[in-house]
Amino acid sequence: MTAPRLRWSVAAAVALAGVFVLGVTSVHFALPGSTVALWWPAAGLAVSFLLATNPGPRRSAVFVLGVLVSSAAANLVGGRPAWVSILYGVANAAEVALVHGLLTARGRRPRLASMDDLWRLIAATVTGAAVIGVLAGLTAHYVLGGDFLDSASAAAFSHGAAVLVMAPLGIAAGIRRTRRPEVEDLVQWVVVVGVTAWVFHLDQSLPLAFLPIPGLVWGALRLGLRTVAAQLLVVGVVAVTMTSVGGGPFATAAQVGGIPPETVGALTQAFLATAAVTTLSLAVATTQRRAALAELRSEVELSGVVLDTAASAIIVVDASGTIARLNATAARLLGAPEDAPEDAPEDALVGRPAAEVFPVDDPQEVRTRMAEIADGTVPLRNEQDWRVEGLGVRHMVWTNAYLTDDDGRRTHLVKTGVDVTDERAARTFVEAVLEAATATAIIGTDLDGVITLFNRGAETVLGWRAAEVVGIRDWSLLHDPADVERRAAELGLDPGFGVLVHRLRGGAATETRDWTYVRKDGTRRTVSLTMSGIRDESGRLTGYLGVAEDVTRRRQAEVALQVALDRERQAVEELTALDRTKSDFVSSVSHELRTPLASVLGYAEMLEDGAAGDLTERQLELVGRVDRNGRRLLSLIEDLLLNSRIEAGRLRLEPRRCDLSDVVASAWTSVATVTSQRELARDIDVSPRPLWVEGDPAALERMVTNLLSNAVKFTPDGGRVSLAAHPDDRDPGTVRLVVSDSGMGIPPADHERVFARFFRSSAANERAIQGSGLGLSIVRAIAEGHGGSVAVESAPDAGSTFTVTLPVAPATAVPVSGSGGPAPERGVSDIS
Ligand code: ADP
Repeated sequence: MTAPRLRWSVAAAVALAGVFVLGVTSVHFALPGSTVALWWPAAGLAVSFLLATNPGPRRSAVFVLGVLVSSAAANLVGGRPAWVSILYGVANAAEVALVHGLLTARGRRPRLASMDDLWRLIAATVTGAAVIGVLAGLTAHYVLGGDFLDSASAAAFSHGAAVLVMAPLGIAAGIRRTRRPEVEDLVQWVVVVGVTAWVFHLDQSLPLAFLPIPGLVWGALRLGLRTVAAQLLVVGVVAVTMTSVGGGPFATAAQVGGIPPETVGALTQAFLATAAVTTLSLAVATTQRRAALAELRSEVELSGVVLDTAASAIIVVDASGTIARLNATAARLLGAPEDAPEDAPEDALVGRPAAEVFPVDDPQEVRTRMAEIADGTVPLRNEQDWRVEGLGVRHMVWTNAYLTDDDGRRTHLVKTGVDVTDERAARTFVEAVLEAATATAIIGTDLDGVITLFNRGAETVLGWRAAEVVGIRDWSLLHDPADVERRAAELGLDPGFGVLVHRLRGGAATETRDWTYVRKDGTRRTVSLTMSGIRDESGRLTGYLGVAEDVTRRRQAEVALQVALDRERQAVEELTALDRTKSDFVSSVSHELRTPLASVLGYAEMLEDGAAGDLTERQLELVGRVDRNGRRLLSLIEDLLLNSRIEAGRLRLEPRRCDLSDVVASAWTSVATVTSQRELARDIDVSPRPLWVEGDPAALERMVTNLLSNAVKFTPDGGRVSLAAHPDDRDPGTVRLVVSDSGMGIPPADHERVFARFFRSSAANERAIQGSGLGLSIVRAIAEGHGGSVAVESAPDAGSTFTVTLPVAPATAVPVSGSGGPAPERGVSDIS
């Protein structure tokens, strides 16, 4: 057996012993001549014990059986016959079981928290009393020969009063003590016990039975149910005990007026029952009131807190249009008057007419509205502009509700307002932006792709009206199905809206790609669509936004451009191939021409030297012409060959340390050979000698030859041709070679063009000056091939000056050419 069970069994045994003792005592104190006891506290104790411990059905049954046994035993010991004792035992047990059963029916815990509970207690007590009355009456009548009614009523009263007086204590035992005893408790106890004892003491014969009641009422109103229950028991014990020994008003009445003992008993029980019902009902009502007050207080506190922490403005206006209550938010918007207390500025606004206080442009409108409160015609929702100090005009949306009194009259209007200024402004701004984007489609959807927003631009691009698609169409239906299917296959998804937002669902912030839209009329447009997720304040994805631009034209233009570029590239390739063929042809022809020409020149030289005998003047002159024209032709062929190599990027130079004066001297000689008939003043100034440069001597000679032959060609007889070569004063690393003439000059517009291949000035053509147009392009290629440059200064009829810069040879290098140096090596360059 567990400890609590054991404890209960011991308590039950003690209680049953108490039932026995009280039974014996009651039988003993039965009024003389009465077949039943005056009071049966044993019933009260048994019921009390069951209510206090409230055990399960099995233990209750065991206890009830115990009541049967101890009640029977008490009657037996009290001198009643065995049968009578057993029957009384059964009757007692039945009563206890019934009362307990009724109070705990349907699993209810016994309690005295409301008037309903009290009524239930009284009903159970009366039912129990009736049962014991009938059973005891029958026993008294049939077994003892007594009067049924007298015995029944006496038993019913004695038991009923005992249960009514004692059961509350059992119930109260389960209630937690909430207050500590004070002096008042002591005084009240003394008064109740003292008054009761005095009223029922032996020499007291005045009918003052009501006197203990005020004391009990005092307890009921101020000290709670436990005290009242305990005092009822004390009063009951005192009253019954003293009455049974002949004290107090009821016993005196019996002695004086010859009232039968059963009536005295009934009167005593009636007194106890009255005291119990009065005080218990008061105690219950007081407890209930206290609980209700506490609840109300916390309710008021709660609503106060709710009001003051609400972000909405809450204003309660009474039927006369006066502010009855408002919260802090409302007070802030209304602007508290200057004399308002700092901690509760709203207090200063209470009691003022709403029409005076509301910061609206038209107070008359407010006045009219407030007058409508009693009729209930104020609109349940309205919007108002409030001029709030420091915040400007605020747009308020109000929700209105009525408060009514018990008669259903509308007494107050509760206005709850939300400041929507910022939201409205933001919304208007966004709407304006959306509407302004007339060429850009902006489409919003929910998470499933149902369209929630379709701006003007979307209408233009897609041809659908917003009303036709918002809330209805799956966005993917606006797309070309083939396009969506292709993308779905790429992503390994089923075609549908998920394809469009796949990346976003995967965590990407945005995704931009081209899609094909199908317009309402069936035509297709290419759009560049940027998708992004719409998130709420907590960052949760709530939908998607697509911004699409019609790029059909742009894409078409891009494709067209690409085709054109491809074509051009193809043409260039073809031309380049053609050019290469031409260059190859020129190059091979030149090669082929060079050998026989060299032979022609060789024979001409032999003739001049007299290898075929002395020549006449005339013959010498003709052979000289053959030689000059042959050399010119050879020079032309050299230029063509060189040009081919330059064009093909195959110009090979063999730079080495060489003396520029040697180079100049041999160039001059070859030019002089060709232009010996010309009447030109010539001067050459190369210093210092040797003038070392880092270069390919053959290439440099070709360069100088070209410059000199041009100077000679484009300067009429009587003019001057000069050549100077010196280290550059401003740049010690370079040598400047300057070829100038006093000839026809070059207009500034042609300065750059003269270096282009095959360029010949119109003047050169008009005057039939021979040339190929390759000379200067070769000059530039050679100068640049040495890391130098060439520039021209000239003006028409003012002569021309060509300046070439060349790098100086490093001082440490071993000279390979020049006066006093070793014989020049055979170059392996292209120019030889
Ligand atoms: P070419 O001399 O064979 O015509 P170049 O390339 O050497 O070809 O020269 C190109 C053109 O530059 C010449 O046709 C001529 O018009 C102009 N030019 C070159 N040198 C001179 C110069 N010294 N004086 C005037 N014009 C010149």
